[in-house]
Amino acid sequence: MYDVGIVGCGPAGIFAALEILKNKPLTKVIMFDKGNNIKIRKCPKSITNKCVFCKPCNISCGFGGAGAFSDGKITLSKDVGGYLEEYIGEKALNEYIKYVDDIYVSFGGDKEVEFDKKFAEEFYKKCKKNNLDFIKCPIRHLGTEKCVEIMTKMYEKLINYKNVRILTNAEILDVEMEEKTIITSEKKYKCKNIILAVGRSGSSWLQTICKNQNIELLNNKVDIGVRVELPRKITDPITNHLYEFKIYNYSKTTQNVVRTFCMSPGGYVTQENYDNNLVCVNGHSFKENKSELTNFALLVSAHFTEPFKEPTKYGEHISRLANMLTDGKVMVQRLYDLKLAKRSTREKLKELTYEPTLKDAEPGDLSFALPGRILNAILETFDALEKICPGISGKETILYGVEVKFYSAKVKVDNNLQTNIKNIYAIGDGAGITRGLLQASISGVVAAKNILKTL
Ligand SMILES: Cc1cc2nc3c(=O)[nH]c(=O)nc-3n(C[C@H](O)[C@H](O)[C@H](O)COP(=O)(O)OP(=O)(O)OC[C@H]3O[C@@H](n4cnc5c(N)ncnc54)[C@H](O)[C@@H]3O)c2cc1C
Repeated sequence: MYDVGIVGCGPAGIFAALEILKNKPLTKVIMFDKGNNIKIRKCPKSITNKCVFCKPCNISCGFGGAGAFSDGKITLSKDVGGYLEEYIGEKALNEYIKYVDDIYVSFGGDKEVEFDKKFAEEFYKKCKKNNLDFIKCPIRHLGTEKCVEIMTKMYEKLINYKNVRILTNAEILDVEMEEKTIITSEKKYKCKNIILAVGRSGSSWLQTICKNQNIELLNNKVDIGVRVELPRKITDPITNHLYEFKIYNYSKTTQNVVRTFCMSPGGYVTQENYDNNLVCVNGHSFKENKSELTNFALLVSAHFTEPFKEPTKYGEHISRLANMLTDGKVMVQRLYDLKLAKRSTREKLKELTYEPTLKDAEPGDLSFALPGRILNAILETFDALEKICPGISGKETILYGVEVKFYSAKVKVDNNLQTNIKNIYAIGDGAGITRGLLQASISGVVAAKNILKTL
């Protein structure tokens, strides 16, 4: 019998464990992750140059979760990275942002925050004039290599408690919620409290077990778009001051909301693998090893109404269509070709003044995969962005597709992130409550605080 069982060792699960043990160091905690230990997690692509489809994917699974190899941008604003404000309120969220950010710094996070306030005010006004919304958001950039270091230190901190067990390569097949039992292929583990912190890679599984055990779910949204890459000198005049610009465009032609997301100046574009060989795209950047390029996502939010209830499947379907056209690879196209309704080819890509960072992407035509309203909203947004960042919509810009942000169905939880079954908590990205490192980590602390009252 354990006091607390944690399924998923991403930031949400890790911060829950850290908070519980900081306050009650003798608590018996068991943690499970279907991926590898942080010390041996490595994406083989750096050697093979192409994805070899590890099962589970080393980028998104294992101790440290998707956060371990993430860009490590800690976005210090309540307005991004999740919906925790709906559960705990603005005041508490702001307090937790400071609390959790300090923990990241204490484990080795960069002490500098990248944000030029004066520049941000001026930039905000410039965006407003051009009908764009700029979200002012200070960023602590850990960098991919630092993220791994920080997660390794957190692992060592936790494993040093004699009463803590961390099982990696331990996929949880089922959770008997009423019985408070966690089930692997070999064993059953009884726990007084269970925290489900399975991230996006475990969200479908979480949905299934919730549906089977009468825990309510809500979902009507998916974000679909492209990963943009271009010479860094085009975005430097802005990113040198802000690190990233989070901008919203309200499309006049399609009425969709289009936003820039996850900007990585000096970064690298990466392939993101999901179950059943679904291939999408993402991006990140190292603190030290910088490229000469910037990448970011341009995403269109698609909301659905009755009778359609499967936004995740819709996003998957579009990604699969792109995968089908490229024989299972990420597709890449010059923006210039897309505007002329022409496919890109290897020859055309050679006209670029740089080499794209995702080397094994296949040139193609995104307009064969993306629905018209999504494509139009993206092209319209490039025109708008050109006014605040000249060159962004030019001949040197390439687009990788498809980037999809699946919104995990939101698990119905109370203000302590406890489900309608007592002592079962659902937190982090997998529960649809958060969408980034900081809020995922905070969700762990929120659940832990409530569990601590019962220990
Ligand atoms: C390339 C990339 C770059 C990113 N960059 C940023 C960034 O710069 N800033 C930012 O804020 N966010 C970023 N993110 C998002 C961020 O990593 C996530 O929001 C965050 O990791 C979510 O934390 P989590 O604990 O909820 O889930 P995760 O980190 O996904 O962890 C969940 C864990 O649960 C495990 N798991 C799932 N199912 C099971 C099961 N059945 N049994 C056992 N274990 C299971 C998984 O293996 C995984 O390790 C990035 C993500 C990616 C992929």
